[in-house]
Order: sequence, then structure tokens, then C-alpha cells
Amino acid sequence: MALSRPLTPIEEKTATFESPLFLSADRIIDISVELRPDMPVYAQDLPVRFDDTMNMDRGDWVNLTTLHLNTHVGTHFDALHHVLNNGQMMGDYPLTRFIGPARVIDVGQDVYEIGPAHLKPHDIEGVKRLLVKTKASSFWQSHPTTFRQDFPAFTQAGAQYLADAGIELIGIDYLSVELYDVPELPAHKAFMNAGITILEGINLSHVKPGDYTLVALPLKLDALDGTPGRAVLLQ
Ligand SMILES: [Zn+2]
Repeated sequence: MALSRPLTPIEEKTATFESPLFLSADRIIDISVELRPDMPVYAQDLPVRFDDTMNMDRGDWVNLTTLHLNTHVGTHFDALHHVLNNGQMMGDYPLTRFIGPARVIDVGQDVYEIGPAHLKPHDIEGVKRLLVKTKASSFWQSHPTTFRQDFPAFTQAGAQYLADAGIELIGIDYLSVELYDVPELPAHKAFMNAGITILEGINLSHVKPGDYTLVALPLKLDALDGTPGRAVLLQ
């Protein structure tokens, strides 16, 4: 029997938009990474490829490029379906999740396994969208073409701590919320069992800890396990 898509969205898609804060913002901070053919991709994922389908230098009447991307490239969202076969697809997440107040915290340059001890010193009470800055933000500049396996990410306990704190969206500055090569994906599962939306592959190197408005919209690839997106902070 084929598995069907889950029938219950995480919350009503038509929920009231919660913050008009961005209307008074005077700065847009781009925290997305650029999609380009030589960019780092996770482990054995296929590299990004741009095919020059039509090219005016070759006499074509327009320039037109065909993209070859996997769903978890660069700045992207994970749907529960990524790690659970009958879990939510991208389109099951309400758009309200992706726009609204967010807090950026910095766990420091020395942290590799992000656990409760690294999170507790930060005030996250009432925070729905939490973006965690680590030393990995600098990898986008220091290693612009190579995937690094030593990126900081959450332990199961760290993820569970944030789930228990009630956050709804977690952002991390490299290509996974999970430490490299950890079997069974315990951090993904701790977040996703709590219905938390995962935003990976942001660059926070130019962002100070503090409060912002996050606008980070997934491409409308509703029936997939994830999708790249564009993420900005309004200040
Ligand atoms: Zn992912």
C-alpha cells in the first residue's frame, strides 16, 4: 500500500500574520548563500550544475539556464519527509512559520557539539524562530568550494532542549543540524518530532546576536522533502 501524505498540517496555513515589524525596518541583511556550480554540497550530494541552455553569445535570442540542484543545497529547508517517509512535505508547513520575529544567538567559536550547556546561557524564552551562529558561518568564506565535515551542530539533547523550549523554527549556519556522520539523525528527529521547521545553510558571519525579523521563504516545491530558499533578516 502506498503511503499517503499526512492529512494534518502542523498548524493552520491561514494563521494570522503576527508581526508588521518589517514595515519599519531600515536594513535588510541577506543570510543566504549563493547557489553556484562550485559551492560546497553535503558529503556525496551531486554538485550544483548550471547548463547554458540558450546563450546570446552563441546567437540564441535569449540567455536561459537550466538548474541542476538537489533539494538540500545551500540555504534550504528540511521537511519532515526528509527523514520520515510519511512525514510532512514542504507544502504542509504554514507560511507564517517563515516570516516573523527571530533571535540570533552565537554559541562561540569553540563549540562543536551544541548541547544544552551551550544553549542555556542564552535567553530564548518566548522565541519562536532561533538562528544559531557557530564558527561554521566563516566556512562559507574560508572554504567556498569544499565541504567541511567538522561543522558544529546539535546533539540530540541540544535539539531536545530547544524543542522543549517551544521554538518553531531552528536555523543553523552550515549544511545540517546534525553532526556529520551521526547515525539515525537524532537531532533532526528531536526537532521534527516537535514540529520544528529546519533552516540550514545560512551565513551569519556578518550578523550580530540580537532580535530581527526573519523572512525566509521556501520555493513552492510543496510535495518534496526540502527546498532551497532565500533568507533575510530585517532590522
Ligand atoms: Zn537539509
